[in-house]
Order: sequence, then structure tokens, then C-alpha cells
Amino acid sequence: MGTRRLAVFLDRDGTINVERGYVTRPEDLGLIDGAGGAIRALNDAGLLAVVVSNQSGVARGLMSEDDLARVHEALERLLEREGARLDGAYYCPNYPEGVDVRFTRDLSCRKPNTGMLELAERELDVDLARSVMVGDFATDIELANRAGMPGVLVLTGKGTETLERAAELGLEIAAAVPDIGAAVAWILERGRADEGDGR
Ligand SMILES: [Mg+2]
Repeated sequence: MGTRRLAVFLDRDGTINVERGYVTRPEDLGLIDGAGGAIRALNDAGLLAVVVSNQSGVARGLMSEDDLARVHEALERLLEREGARLDGAYYCPNYPEGVDVRFTRDLSCRKPNTGMLELAERELDVDLARSVMVGDFATDIELANRAGMPGVLVLTGKGTETLERAAELGLEIAAAVPDIGAAVAWILERGRADEGDGR
């Protein structure tokens, strides 16, 4: 058994906070019910809680990198109020048809590409093969599929539409659950089952 750590990778918009299109200001941020408790449960279980989020609003000129950082700080404050903490957060500002050429060329970080997971693997010493991805959109599940980890679909945000299109898009969904709280319960239950099997 290795010492590398298990992570639960979390999409942000529609998974942790309410889907409201491009979130460019802290005021646009509202936690989904139960999100703080769910992340706190990951903290308590010793699993890393790591955000992986496409934020193409930067490339599209809708917000600056400073705006993105301010929104992230606000997210951390909202979670802290619920006793929850993120162990890492990766944002991909890039988009091929963006208006700012600094952010149009390298798409390795943009989900479903796996760049953010590989960064977390190196920087946080994550065991990707034993980690899990949670999100509401097709690219979240496709990312999980590409990385060979279970992809848990939450039915908040765009989750219901994603579920309807899953077969057409060829998505392999490990579990479709109402929200992040149920996703974390599924993950923790699965971990207990694995321990019981002596794995
Ligand atoms: Mg999302």
C-alpha cells in the first residue's frame, strides 16, 4: 500500500456552488445545500478535497485572473464558515476561441483534458488510480473516464441534462446521485466496502 493520497476531485460550478453561468464576482457565489458538510466529511475522512474547474471566462475576456482569485477566496470563506476546507484548487482559464491570446493556445488543462489532475498528482502527491471525480457536466465525467477513475455525476447544475445525454455522449457514469452530499456518501461507503474486501 503506497503512501500517496486519495483525492476527491470536485467540479466547482453546479457541483459546489449554484450554477449561475460565468461566476465573475464573489456575490455570484452561493453554496449548494449540503456542500459545506460534504467537503467537511471528506476532510474528516482524510481524503483530499480538490477543485478542478474550467473557467474560460478569463480567456473570453469576461473576467481577469484577479477576479477568478477573488471568487476562489470567497468560496474558501463560505466553506470555512461550515468548517470545511479545500486541500487544493486548480482552475483552467484557457479556451481556444478566447479573445485574450495568452489563454487560447495551451488547452492541456481544459477538462476533459487531464492536465489539472496531473498537476495535482505531482503537487499534492495524489494517487490518481484510486481517486474519484465528482461533477455535473459531461466534461467532468469524460475527464474521469480518461483518467481511469470513477466519475460521479451530481444532478445539481447541469447534471440532469448530462444524464439524459450520457448514452449519446458515451459517458461511463459510476453513479448518478442527487447532489454533492450524496456523492460524498457514495464515495465514503465505497471506501468502506473496499476495506472490507481487504483491498
Ligand atoms: Mg459544473
